[in-house]
Amino acid sequence: MLPDPALNLLAPEALDADGLRVFNPADGRLVARVRRYDRAALSAIIDEAEAARHPWAGRTAKARGDVLRDWFDLVRDNAEALARLLTLESGKPLDEARGEVTYGASFIEWFAEEARRAYGEVIPPHATDKRILTFRQPVGTCAAITPWNFPVAMITRKVAPALAAGCSIVVKPAEATPLSALALERLAREAGVPESLFRAVPAFSASEAGDLFCAHPSIRKISFTGSTHVGKILMAKAAAQVKRVSLELGGNAPFIVFDDADLDAAIDGAMTSRFRNAGQTCVCANRFLVQDGIYDAFVSRLAERVDAVRVADGLSCSSAMGPLIDRASVARVAALVDEAVAEGAVRVTAQASIPGGGSFHCPVVLAGVTHGMRIAHEEIFGPVAPVIRFHDEDEALRIANDTPFGLAAYVFTAQAARQWRMMERLEYGMVGINDGLISTEVAPFGGIKESGFGREGSRHGLADYMNIKYCLVGGL
Ligand code: ADP
Repeated sequence: MLPDPALNLLAPEALDADGLRVFNPADGRLVARVRRYDRAALSAIIDEAEAARHPWAGRTAKARGDVLRDWFDLVRDNAEALARLLTLESGKPLDEARGEVTYGASFIEWFAEEARRAYGEVIPPHATDKRILTFRQPVGTCAAITPWNFPVAMITRKVAPALAAGCSIVVKPAEATPLSALALERLAREAGVPESLFRAVPAFSASEAGDLFCAHPSIRKISFTGSTHVGKILMAKAAAQVKRVSLELGGNAPFIVFDDADLDAAIDGAMTSRFRNAGQTCVCANRFLVQDGIYDAFVSRLAERVDAVRVADGLSCSSAMGPLIDRASVARVAALVDEAVAEGAVRVTAQASIPGGGSFHCPVVLAGVTHGMRIAHEEIFGPVAPVIRFHDEDEALRIANDTPFGLAAYVFTAQAARQWRMMERLEYGMVGINDGLISTEVAPFGGIKESGFGREGSRHGLADYMNIKYCLVGGL
C-alpha cells in the first residue's frame, strides 16, 4: 500500500523503517513508522535547545511573535492535510480533526500576539531613595509530554506560549500520535523557528524520557497533560531539582441539569460535552446529575440522540463518531459499563452496530446510576453517559464536589441566582453555565485538586512560561 499523501507533511528524516509504529485505530492498519530517540539522543537535543534559547530570547518580542504568526499561517495553509493526518493516527472524524486544527492554530495566533504583552511593573517604593520594578523573563528550556486525544492542540498550547515567552521546548508526543507533532515541528521550522528551539521527539521509552526531563539540569519547567497517575510521578521526580511543573490531569466532570433548564440546550450540550472525540477528552462530562422533575425527559431525549449517532471510520464519514484510541480502551470502557449494569444501572440505548477491525465502542446512555458506582468516580474516557438522579441543589453540589478531581463542571439552569451560586461553589478550575463547550484560546484552561495546576491559553498561559524578577534600585 502506498503511504498516505498526508505523510508528506513530515520531514523525510522523521520516518524510519525500524521506528515506532503508528496505527490507524479505525482499521488497525499501519500508517507509518517514525524515528525514536533514546536517552543519549534526547539529552543531546536538550543541550541544543538550551544553546538555542539565548539568541531567541534576545530577539524582540515582536520578532518572536512574527515567526509565530508565520507558523500560524502555515498551519492554516496546511489545515486539510494536518486534519487528515490527525484522523489517521487518532481515529477522530475528519470534521472534528479540522476543528482541532483550527483550535490548535488559534493558540499559535493568540501567543504570537501575547508575546508583546509580557509587561513588567513599576511599584511605588517603600523609601524615597529607592525604586522598585519587575521584569518577566523566560523560564528557560522547557520539556512537554503530551497525550494522544488532541495531538495538535495539546502541543500548540504549550509550544506557542513557550516560544512567545523566549523559551526553547522539547516535546515528547504520545506513542499513538506522533505524526501531528512531527508535522507541526516541520511547519514551525519552515516558518523560521530555529532548528533546535522546538523539537518533537518520539521516545523509545516514555518513562525514560520523563526521567531525563526531570533529571537534566537544563530543563527548568515540565508541562504535562495526561493521567493523574503519571502527573504525580513527574511532580515527585521534578521536586529533586525544584523544577517548575504544570499539570493538566484527569477529570470527573459533573454535568448538572436542573428542572428549570432549557432541555434542548442541555441535550445539545450533553452531546458535545460527552461524545466529542468519542468521549476521550479530559473535560468530557463524565457523569450527568439530573434533577427529579426533568430526569425522565432528559434520559429519553439523550438516548434518542445517541441512538442516531453513526459510528464509523473517521475518514469515511465525517459526521460519525470514530473509534477509541486502542482495543485496551474499548475493553476498559466495556468493563465499566458491565459493572454498572450488574449493580443496577439500566442501558437505555440500543446497541449500535459498529464496524469490525478497529477499536470501536458504541455510544451508551446508562440510567439509574448512583453516586456509589465506580463509573461515577472513574474517568470513563469513552462514549458512555451515566445519569444520576438528584433532588435539590445542595445534593447536586455535594455529589459534584465529592471527588478528588477538579477540572471542568457544567450546569444547566435558567435561574440567574443559581447560576452564580453554582459558579462560586463548584470546586473546579472551569465551570460552563448553559454550555457544553468551554475550551478557547482566550480563556485560562486548567484544573484544581488532583486535576492539576497551571493554566493554558489566555494571558495566564504565557505567564506560566515566565519568571518574575524583582529589582530594587537604591541610593537615589
Ligand atoms: P493516557 O492514559 O491518556 O495515555 P498517560 O498519562 O499514560 O495517559 O500518557 C500521557 C503521556 O504521558 C504520553 O505521552 C505518555 O507516553 C506519557 N507517559 C506515560 N508514562 C509515563 C512516565 N512514566 N513518565 C513520563 N511520561 C509518561
